[in-house]
Amino acid sequence: MRNKSVVTEARQIQLAIDLVNLGARLQVLEAETNLSRERLLKLYKEVKGVSPPKGMLPFSTDWFMSWQPNIHSSLFIDTYRYLGEHAKISGIEAIVKAYTLYLEHLQVNSLECVLSFTRAWSLIRFLDAKMLTTVPCTECRGHFVVHTMDLHKGYVCGLCNVPSRAGKTRQAAVAAAAAAVEADAAISAAMQPQAPLANVVIGAAQRKAQPRVRVPA
Ligand SMILES: [Zn+2]
Repeated sequence: MRNKSVVTEARQIQLAIDLVNLGARLQVLEAETNLSRERLLKLYKEVKGVSPPKGMLPFSTDWFMSWQPNIHSSLFIDTYRYLGEHAKISGIEAIVKAYTLYLEHLQVNSLECVLSFTRAWSLIRFLDAKMLTTVPCTECRGHFVVHTMDLHKGYVCGLCNVPSRAGKTRQAAVAAAAAAVEADAAISAAMQPQAPLANVVIGAAQRKAQPRVRVPA
């Protein structure tokens, strides 16, 4: 007979719930808990109300090199390491706490979320596997995510040397935001003319049909 600890199982379930709430994929839950795939599937559906997305996890390290993901990833890894050094936590607990702090940072500064939980989790695995590492920027001294095999002499980060592409992305974001505002205005405008248009139609009907018929507004 298997002698399973109820407390251990309860902790595993709580961890799985926390991970699902942070947006973790099923593969992450399978890797980080001892719960069966069937139980995790059931739990995922119960917490999220939908089935987990299918397909493989993102496996490319290149994503972490593009401008915005690199800054967000570097911020996350810095928080993760700080927790490891000062709060003496590690593994999935450190990932969960660092990611929660990352989300709080986004909320406080009204920033969009670039790094998903699954990407953050993958980042730690890439670092552990020495596929990725961090190097200090020669200008700001902050540590940034880089490919381990690349040359890093005189490295300057994406914040100290903003690529021209980044500006275009920002312009695109501004344009998208403006378009969204315009679309909102168009929707509001489309809602409003309903009344005058209806009045014209009703007015015409009233002129034709005497005596007047009361039309509900
Ligand atoms: Zn820098």
